[in-house]
Amino acid sequence: MNRLRPNIRDMKGYVPGFQPDDVASWIKLNTNENPYPPSPRVVEAIYEEVGVDGALLRTYPSASSAKLREAAGELYGFDPSWIIMANGSDEVLNNLIRACAGEGEEIALVHPSYSYYATLAEVQGARVRCFGLTDDFRIADFPERYEGKLFFLTSPNAPLGFAFPQEYVEELAQRCSGLLVIDEAYADFADANVMELVKKYDNVVVTRTFSKSYALAGMRLGLAIARPEIIAALDKIRDHYNLDRLAQAACVAALQDQPYFRNSCTRIRETREWFTQELIAIGYQVIPSQTNFVFVSPPDRNGKRVYEALYGRKILVRLLSDPLLAHGLRISIGTREEMELTLAALKEIG
Ligand code: PMP
Repeated sequence: MNRLRPNIRDMKGYVPGFQPDDVASWIKLNTNENPYPPSPRVVEAIYEEVGVDGALLRTYPSASSAKLREAAGELYGFDPSWIIMANGSDEVLNNLIRACAGEGEEIALVHPSYSYYATLAEVQGARVRCFGLTDDFRIADFPERYEGKLFFLTSPNAPLGFAFPQEYVEELAQRCSGLLVIDEAYADFADANVMELVKKYDNVVVTRTFSKSYALAGMRLGLAIARPEIIAALDKIRDHYNLDRLAQAACVAALQDQPYFRNSCTRIRETREWFTQELIAIGYQVIPSQTNFVFVSPPDRNGKRVYEALYGRKILVRLLSDPLLAHGLRISIGTREEMELTLAALKEIG
Protein backbone atom coordinates (compact mmCIF):
# COMPACT_ATOMS: atom_id res chain seq x y z
CA MET A 1 0.00 0.00 0.00
CA ASN A 2 2.38 2.72 -1.13
CA ARG A 3 -0.51 5.16 -1.35
CA LEU A 4 -0.29 5.57 2.41
CA ARG A 5 2.21 7.78 4.21
CA PRO A 6 4.97 5.40 5.41
CA ASN A 7 4.60 6.41 9.07
CA ILE A 8 0.88 5.63 8.98
CA ARG A 9 1.35 2.37 7.10
CA ASP A 10 4.02 1.15 9.55
CA MET A 11 2.60 2.33 12.86
CA LYS A 12 0.84 -0.03 15.27
CA GLY A 13 -1.84 2.31 16.58
CA TYR A 14 -3.01 2.77 20.16
CA VAL A 15 -4.81 -0.14 21.83
CA PRO A 16 -7.41 1.10 24.34
CA GLY A 17 -8.31 -0.91 27.44
CA PHE A 18 -10.63 -3.87 26.85
CA GLN A 19 -14.37 -3.01 26.95
CA PRO A 20 -16.27 -6.32 27.37
CA ASP A 21 -19.75 -6.62 25.82
CA ASP A 22 -21.20 -8.20 28.95
CA VAL A 23 -19.92 -5.35 31.11
CA ALA A 24 -22.45 -5.99 33.91
CA SER A 25 -20.97 -9.41 34.66
CA TRP A 26 -17.49 -8.00 35.38
CA ILE A 27 -15.90 -5.96 38.10
CA LYS A 28 -14.33 -3.58 35.65
CA LEU A 29 -11.21 -1.90 37.01
CA ASN A 30 -9.16 -1.60 33.82
CA THR A 31 -9.87 1.84 32.28
CA ASN A 32 -10.09 4.20 35.27
CA GLU A 33 -13.77 4.86 34.78
CA ASN A 34 -15.79 6.28 37.65
CA PRO A 35 -17.80 3.60 39.48
CA TYR A 36 -20.56 6.13 40.28
CA PRO A 37 -22.90 7.61 37.69
CA PRO A 38 -22.71 11.30 36.75
CA SER A 39 -24.88 13.87 38.57
CA PRO A 40 -28.62 13.25 38.04
CA ARG A 41 -28.72 16.77 36.59
CA VAL A 42 -26.66 15.51 33.65
CA VAL A 43 -29.38 13.11 32.57
CA GLU A 44 -32.06 15.83 32.93
CA ALA A 45 -29.98 18.23 30.84
CA ILE A 46 -29.52 15.62 28.11
CA TYR A 47 -33.28 14.99 27.87
CA GLU A 48 -33.91 18.70 27.74
CA GLU A 49 -31.36 19.12 24.98
CA VAL A 50 -32.93 16.36 22.90
CA GLY A 51 -36.25 18.29 22.94
CA VAL A 52 -39.69 16.91 22.21
CA ASP A 53 -39.34 13.99 19.78
CA GLY A 54 -35.73 14.93 19.22
CA ALA A 55 -36.64 18.31 17.70
CA LEU A 56 -33.47 20.04 18.90
CA LEU A 57 -31.20 17.47 17.30
CA ARG A 58 -32.01 18.98 13.87
CA THR A 59 -29.79 21.96 14.49
CA TYR A 60 -26.04 22.23 14.85
CA PRO A 61 -24.57 22.71 18.30
CA SER A 62 -22.67 25.83 19.37
CA ALA A 63 -19.44 25.58 17.35
CA SER A 64 -17.40 27.15 20.14
CA SER A 65 -19.21 25.33 23.01
CA ALA A 66 -19.91 28.85 24.23
CA LYS A 67 -21.95 28.13 27.37
CA LEU A 68 -19.62 25.37 28.37
CA ARG A 69 -16.52 27.56 28.05
CA GLU A 70 -18.25 30.09 30.26
CA ALA A 71 -19.23 27.48 32.85
CA ALA A 72 -15.67 26.09 32.89
CA GLY A 73 -14.21 29.60 33.06
CA GLU A 74 -16.36 30.42 36.06
CA LEU A 75 -15.43 27.21 37.84
CA TYR A 76 -11.68 27.43 37.24
CA GLY A 77 -11.29 31.21 37.39
CA PHE A 78 -10.27 31.92 33.77
CA ASP A 79 -11.74 34.09 31.03
CA PRO A 80 -13.39 31.82 28.40
CA SER A 81 -10.77 33.01 25.86
CA TRP A 82 -8.24 30.91 27.87
CA ILE A 83 -10.30 27.72 27.49
CA ILE A 84 -10.97 25.25 24.69
CA MET A 85 -13.42 22.38 25.05
CA ALA A 86 -12.51 19.05 23.47
CA ASN A 87 -14.16 15.83 22.39
CA GLY A 88 -12.30 13.98 25.13
CA SER A 89 -8.93 15.32 26.23
CA ASP A 90 -7.39 12.97 23.64
CA GLU A 91 -8.65 15.37 20.96
CA VAL A 92 -6.89 18.39 22.39
CA LEU A 93 -3.67 16.43 23.04
CA ASN A 94 -3.70 15.57 19.36
CA ASN A 95 -4.33 19.16 18.31
CA LEU A 96 -1.54 20.44 20.54
CA ILE A 97 0.97 18.32 18.63
CA ARG A 98 -0.54 19.36 15.31
CA ALA A 99 -0.28 23.02 16.34
CA CYS A 100 3.35 22.86 17.48
CA ALA A 101 5.36 20.10 15.85
CA GLY A 102 5.93 19.72 12.13
CA GLU A 103 7.20 16.58 10.45
CA GLY A 104 10.64 15.62 11.79
CA GLU A 105 10.44 18.06 14.72
CA GLU A 106 10.83 16.83 18.27
CA ILE A 107 8.36 16.44 21.08
CA ALA A 108 9.07 14.76 24.42
CA LEU A 109 7.28 12.60 26.92
CA VAL A 110 7.99 10.76 30.13
CA HIS A 111 8.34 7.01 30.20
CA PRO A 112 6.25 5.55 31.71
CA SER A 113 3.28 7.81 31.13
CA TYR A 114 0.28 7.89 28.79
CA SER A 115 1.40 5.95 25.71
CA TYR A 116 -1.07 7.69 23.41
CA TYR A 117 1.20 10.78 23.11
CA ALA A 118 3.70 8.70 21.13
CA THR A 119 0.98 7.44 18.80
CA LEU A 120 -0.17 11.01 18.14
CA ALA A 121 3.39 12.08 17.40
CA GLU A 122 3.80 9.18 15.01
CA VAL A 123 0.72 10.25 13.06
CA GLN A 124 2.15 13.72 12.79
CA GLY A 125 5.58 12.38 11.77
CA ALA A 126 7.17 14.15 14.73
CA ARG A 127 10.18 12.65 16.50
CA VAL A 128 9.72 11.49 20.07
CA ARG A 129 12.24 11.85 22.87
CA CYS A 130 11.56 9.77 25.98
CA PHE A 131 12.72 10.85 29.42
CA GLY A 132 12.83 8.19 32.11
CA LEU A 133 12.06 8.64 35.79
CA THR A 134 14.52 8.61 38.67
CA ASP A 135 13.82 6.46 41.75
CA ASP A 136 12.38 9.50 43.53
CA PHE A 137 10.03 10.28 40.63
CA ARG A 138 11.81 13.15 38.94
CA ILE A 139 12.64 13.37 35.22
CA ALA A 140 15.95 11.65 34.49
CA ASP A 141 18.55 13.66 32.54
CA PHE A 142 16.28 16.56 31.70
CA PRO A 143 18.47 19.19 30.01
CA GLU A 144 19.10 22.63 31.51
CA ARG A 145 17.31 23.96 28.42
CA TYR A 146 14.96 21.67 26.49
CA GLU A 147 14.52 22.90 22.93
CA GLY A 148 11.86 20.45 21.69
CA LYS A 149 8.55 21.84 20.46
CA LEU A 150 6.44 20.34 23.23
CA PHE A 151 6.86 18.30 26.39
CA PHE A 152 4.00 16.20 27.78
CA LEU A 153 4.07 15.89 31.56
CA THR A 154 1.35 13.68 33.02
CA SER A 155 0.71 14.81 36.56
CA PRO A 156 -0.54 12.93 38.44
CA ASN A 157 1.36 10.33 36.45
CA ALA A 158 -0.47 7.51 34.74
CA PRO A 159 0.01 4.60 35.20
CA LEU A 160 2.03 5.09 38.40
CA GLY A 161 -0.27 7.52 40.22
CA PHE A 162 2.20 9.93 41.89
CA ALA A 163 2.06 13.72 41.30
CA PHE A 164 5.01 16.02 40.63
CA PRO A 165 5.30 18.85 43.20
CA GLN A 166 4.40 22.33 41.96
CA GLU A 167 7.92 23.80 42.46
CA TYR A 168 9.34 21.04 40.31
CA VAL A 169 6.78 21.57 37.53
CA GLU A 170 7.63 25.29 37.61
CA GLU A 171 11.29 24.49 37.22
CA LEU A 172 10.47 22.34 34.16
CA ALA A 173 8.36 25.15 32.69
CA GLN A 174 11.35 27.46 32.98
CA ARG A 175 13.62 24.91 31.31
CA CYS A 176 11.33 24.29 28.29
CA SER A 177 11.56 26.61 25.31
CA GLY A 178 8.50 24.99 23.70
CA LEU A 179 5.17 24.19 25.30
CA LEU A 180 4.95 22.32 28.59
CA VAL A 181 1.64 20.44 28.39
CA ILE A 182 0.60 19.23 31.82
CA ASP A 183 -1.95 16.47 31.41
CA GLU A 184 -4.01 16.70 34.59
CA ALA A 185 -6.48 13.95 33.63
CA TYR A 186 -6.46 12.72 37.25
CA ALA A 187 -5.91 15.98 39.15
CA ASP A 188 -9.41 16.03 40.64
CA PHE A 189 -8.39 13.06 42.80
CA ALA A 190 -5.17 14.74 43.97
CA ASP A 191 -4.39 16.96 46.96
CA ALA A 192 -3.19 19.78 44.67
CA ASN A 193 -2.99 20.78 41.01
CA VAL A 194 -0.95 23.24 38.97
CA MET A 195 -3.61 24.92 36.84
CA GLU A 196 -2.61 28.37 38.14
CA LEU A 197 0.80 28.01 36.44
CA VAL A 198 -0.96 28.79 33.15
CA LYS A 199 -1.24 32.39 34.40
CA LYS A 200 2.43 32.59 35.36
CA TYR A 201 4.17 30.93 32.38
CA ASP A 202 3.24 31.64 28.77
CA ASN A 203 4.40 28.20 27.61
CA VAL A 204 2.26 26.18 30.05
CA VAL A 205 -0.90 24.38 28.93
CA VAL A 206 -3.06 22.33 31.31
CA THR A 207 -5.42 19.66 30.02
CA ARG A 208 -8.22 17.99 31.95
CA THR A 209 -10.71 15.23 31.20
CA PHE A 210 -14.29 14.87 32.38
CA SER A 211 -14.12 11.11 31.75
CA LYS A 212 -12.93 10.15 35.22
CA SER A 213 -13.85 12.53 38.04
CA TYR A 214 -17.11 13.66 36.38
CA ALA A 215 -18.02 10.12 35.22
CA LEU A 216 -18.54 11.23 31.61
CA ALA A 217 -16.19 8.92 29.69
CA GLY A 218 -19.07 7.90 27.44
CA MET A 219 -19.80 11.51 26.44
CA ARG A 220 -16.20 12.33 25.38
CA LEU A 221 -15.37 15.60 27.12
CA GLY A 222 -12.13 17.34 28.01
CA LEU A 223 -10.53 20.76 27.91
CA ALA A 224 -7.30 22.71 27.69
CA ILE A 225 -6.44 25.94 29.49
CA ALA A 226 -3.73 28.17 28.06
CA ARG A 227 -2.98 31.72 26.90
CA PRO A 228 -5.56 33.04 24.41
CA GLU A 229 -3.05 32.95 21.52
CA ILE A 230 -2.56 29.21 22.04
CA ILE A 231 -6.31 28.65 22.41
CA ALA A 232 -6.93 30.62 19.20
CA ALA A 233 -4.51 28.35 17.33
CA LEU A 234 -6.20 25.22 18.70
CA ASP A 235 -9.58 26.64 17.68
CA LYS A 236 -8.37 26.93 14.09
CA ILE A 237 -7.44 23.28 13.77
CA ARG A 238 -10.20 21.47 15.68
CA ASP A 239 -13.31 20.15 13.91
CA HIS A 240 -15.63 23.13 13.93
CA TYR A 241 -18.46 21.20 15.63
CA ASN A 242 -16.18 19.09 17.81
CA LEU A 243 -18.69 18.69 20.67
CA ASP A 244 -22.23 17.59 20.03
CA ARG A 245 -25.25 19.21 21.69
CA LEU A 246 -25.75 16.49 24.24
CA ALA A 247 -22.13 16.51 25.35
CA GLN A 248 -22.17 20.30 25.81
CA ALA A 249 -25.41 20.25 27.81
CA ALA A 250 -24.23 17.30 29.91
CA CYS A 251 -20.95 18.95 30.78
CA VAL A 252 -22.51 22.29 31.78
CA ALA A 253 -24.87 20.41 34.13
CA ALA A 254 -22.02 18.32 35.57
CA LEU A 255 -19.82 21.36 36.23
CA GLN A 256 -22.69 23.17 37.92
CA ASP A 257 -23.32 20.34 40.38
CA GLN A 258 -20.14 20.73 42.41
CA PRO A 259 -21.49 19.15 45.64
CA TYR A 260 -22.25 15.92 43.77
CA PHE A 261 -18.83 15.98 42.08
CA ARG A 262 -16.96 16.57 45.34
CA ASN A 263 -18.83 13.80 47.09
CA SER A 264 -18.03 11.32 44.33
CA CYS A 265 -14.31 12.23 44.37
CA THR A 266 -14.17 11.99 48.17
CA ARG A 267 -15.66 8.49 48.16
CA ILE A 268 -13.13 7.34 45.57
CA ARG A 269 -10.22 8.87 47.49
CA GLU A 270 -11.36 7.22 50.72
CA THR A 271 -11.70 3.84 49.03
CA ARG A 272 -8.26 4.30 47.45
CA GLU A 273 -6.64 4.94 50.82
CA TRP A 274 -8.37 1.95 52.41
CA PHE A 275 -7.49 -0.38 49.50
CA THR A 276 -3.84 0.80 49.55
CA GLN A 277 -3.45 -0.02 53.24
CA GLU A 278 -5.12 -3.42 52.84
CA LEU A 279 -2.81 -4.35 49.94
CA ILE A 280 0.29 -3.28 51.85
CA ALA A 281 -0.89 -5.49 54.72
CA ILE A 282 -0.86 -8.55 52.42
CA GLY A 283 2.65 -7.85 51.16
CA TYR A 284 1.91 -5.87 48.00
CA GLN A 285 3.99 -2.89 46.97
CA VAL A 286 1.72 0.06 46.27
CA ILE A 287 2.79 3.45 44.92
CA PRO A 288 0.92 6.10 46.96
CA SER A 289 -1.69 7.37 44.51
CA GLN A 290 -3.13 10.81 43.77
CA THR A 291 -5.52 9.37 41.18
CA ASN A 292 -8.48 6.99 40.88
CA PHE A 293 -6.21 3.98 40.37
CA VAL A 294 -3.27 2.33 42.09
CA PHE A 295 -0.19 0.75 40.57
CA VAL A 296 0.60 -2.33 42.61
CA SER A 297 2.97 -5.26 42.48
CA PRO A 298 2.38 -8.62 44.11
CA PRO A 299 5.05 -10.13 46.37
CA ASP A 300 6.34 -12.40 43.55
CA ARG A 301 6.37 -9.43 41.11
CA ASN A 302 4.43 -11.45 38.56
CA GLY A 303 1.72 -9.12 37.26
CA LYS A 304 0.58 -11.55 34.57
CA ARG A 305 -0.13 -14.37 37.01
CA VAL A 306 -2.34 -12.18 39.17
CA TYR A 307 -3.99 -10.58 36.13
CA GLU A 308 -5.01 -13.98 34.81
CA ALA A 309 -6.23 -15.23 38.16
CA LEU A 310 -8.38 -12.10 38.57
CA TYR A 311 -9.62 -12.42 34.99
CA GLY A 312 -10.76 -15.96 35.76
CA ARG A 313 -12.85 -14.49 38.61
CA LYS A 314 -14.36 -11.87 36.25
CA ILE A 315 -12.33 -9.03 37.70
CA LEU A 316 -10.72 -6.97 34.98
CA VAL A 317 -7.62 -4.90 35.78
CA ARG A 318 -4.89 -3.49 33.50
CA LEU A 319 -1.73 -5.42 32.73
CA LEU A 320 0.56 -3.12 30.77
CA SER A 321 2.63 -4.58 27.95
CA ASP A 322 5.61 -2.35 28.74
CA PRO A 323 8.41 -4.58 30.16
CA LEU A 324 9.16 -1.87 32.74
CA LEU A 325 5.66 -2.38 34.20
CA ALA A 326 5.17 -6.13 33.79
CA HIS A 327 5.82 -6.72 37.50
CA GLY A 328 2.65 -4.91 38.40
CA LEU A 329 -0.95 -4.10 37.66
CA ARG A 330 -2.91 -0.90 37.39
CA ILE A 331 -6.15 -1.27 39.31
CA SER A 332 -8.87 1.38 39.02
CA ILE A 333 -10.71 2.31 42.20
CA GLY A 334 -14.29 1.09 42.04
CA THR A 335 -16.98 1.18 44.71
CA ARG A 336 -16.04 0.08 48.21
CA GLU A 337 -17.93 -3.16 47.61
CA GLU A 338 -16.07 -3.87 44.35
CA MET A 339 -12.74 -3.25 46.06
CA GLU A 340 -13.66 -5.53 48.98
CA LEU A 341 -14.40 -8.31 46.48
CA THR A 342 -11.15 -7.59 44.63
CA LEU A 343 -9.17 -7.68 47.88
CA ALA A 344 -10.77 -10.98 48.86
CA ALA A 345 -9.84 -12.41 45.43
CA LEU A 346 -6.24 -11.19 45.77
CA LYS A 347 -5.96 -12.81 49.19
CA GLU A 348 -7.25 -16.06 47.74
CA ILE A 349 -4.89 -15.89 44.74
CA GLY A 350 -1.93 -15.24 47.01
N1 PMP B 1 -4.62 11.55 29.64
C1 PMP B 1 -4.41 10.50 30.43
C2 PMP B 1 -3.21 10.48 31.31
C3 PMP B 1 -5.32 9.43 30.42
O1 PMP B 1 -5.10 8.35 31.21
C4 PMP B 1 -6.45 9.49 29.58
C5 PMP B 1 -7.47 8.36 29.57
N2 PMP B 1 -7.07 7.22 28.93
C6 PMP B 1 -6.61 10.60 28.76
C7 PMP B 1 -5.68 11.63 28.83
C8 PMP B 1 -7.73 10.72 27.78
O2 PMP B 1 -8.94 10.98 28.37
P1 PMP B 1 -10.24 11.31 27.54
O3 PMP B 1 -11.22 10.26 27.90
O4 PMP B 1 -10.66 12.67 28.02
O5 PMP B 1 -9.90 11.34 26.09
